[in-house]
Order: sequence, then structure tokens, then C-alpha cells
Amino acid sequence: MLSSRDILGAEGPLAQHIPAFAPRRPQQEMAEAVEKAIANSSLLIAEAGTGTGKTFAYLVPALLSGEKIIISTGTKNLQDQLFHKDLPVVRDALGIPVTVAMLKGRGNYLCTHRLDLAEEQGRFTSRKQVDQLLRIRSWSGRTRSGDTTEMGDIPEDAPIWSMVTSNGDNCLGQECPDFGDCHVMHARRKAQEADVLVVNHHLLFADMALREEGFG
Ligand code: SF4
Repeated sequence: MLSSRDILGAEGPLAQHIPAFAPRRPQQEMAEAVEKAIANSSLLIAEAGTGTGKTFAYLVPALLSGEKIIISTGTKNLQDQLFHKDLPVVRDALGIPVTVAMLKGRGNYLCTHRLDLAEEQGRFTSRKQVDQLLRIRSWSGRTRSGDTTEMGDIPEDAPIWSMVTSNGDNCLGQECPDFGDCHVMHARRKAQEADVLVVNHHLLFADMALREEGFG
């Protein structure tokens, strides 16, 4: 079996799969260090400059390891980029059947039950909100993930989102009529089953804090 260093080398599958790929020694060294850290269950802190190709340097050994891997990014934008762009490229180049999933905090997923409630109650403060709700309703019939970033033209901080997403206090859980099709539950199930899970620091540390208190 090829090592991470070989895979990132001039003759490796990444060079064959990605037209502009250029092998870089620092990238190969970082990949080797990550590979060893995973194999030895040890801690590694790696710092490398711009242009090293750090993302591929950790993705290659992570995907090759056969272990359950959690990758946490600093922002949700980076999380989306990693999941939608970099991960598929490396997975396809390696040609290995690794299942991947992305998980965000529950406030990032459409709650169809609260969408129904918002429509019934009709407490909107402007025409703009009504227009946004109509667009969200139309999108709700198309989306598979319910991830609100798919509706990029409605700002992340628009008040409408708090009406159609859930939090720990207003989610009905198993009592919910939409529980079977719930986007939050679906994302959590996929996260549990995946070999590689992409989260963000906010979610990771919130979960760690809850676990320390006996929840999570
Ligand atoms: S289970 Fe909770 S998050 Fe899911 S649809 Fe129902 S209320 Fe919304």
C-alpha cells in the first residue's frame, strides 16, 4: 500500500487526478507526520505556511487511516469548502469507499415544523419577510440537507431564520409530527454513521462543554 508521502508525490494518484498538482516536500513531510500521529494515537501540532498544501497533507493520511475521523474547521465557510470541494477531490483521487458527512449546529438547518407554525401564525414585520418565507417554503420542497447556506441570498442574520430553525428549547423531538423527515435528526444520523465527519470549532467545543456537564 502506498504511503501518504507517495500519494502526494510526482507519480502518485493526486498528480494523476489533479491537472495542476505539483508535489511539494513540506506537504509530504506534514502528511507523513500526520500519518504517524494517527497510527500511534499521538498528538501532533503542525504549523505550515501558505502554499504548503496543508489541507491535502492531513486529508490524505486521514482518509487512508481507516479510522473514524473528525475534522473541525474554524469557520462554517471553511467547513463548506472542505466538505464540498477538497474532500471529494481527495476521495476520488484515492478511489476508496469512505463515507463523509458534515454536521453544523441545529440552528443551521431548516425546521419544517416551525416553518409550518410561522406560516400559520403569520407574525411578519415586513413584506420582505413574507417574500423570504415564500422563498424558504419553495426551497423546502427541493432541499435534501435543509442546510440554510443553500439559501445564500437570504443573509445569515436575517430574523426570518430564527422563525424557521429550531433550538434546544423549542424542538419537539420525538413528539414532532415531522420527526421522521427532520433535517437536524437526519444530519446527526449521517454524522454518526460516517467514516469522516466535518464539524466546526463552535459545534465541537459546545459539544465538549455539554459532555463535561454530563449531556451532549
Ligand atoms: S424534530 Fe425538532 S428540529 Fe426536527 S422538525 Fe421537529 S421541531 Fe423541527
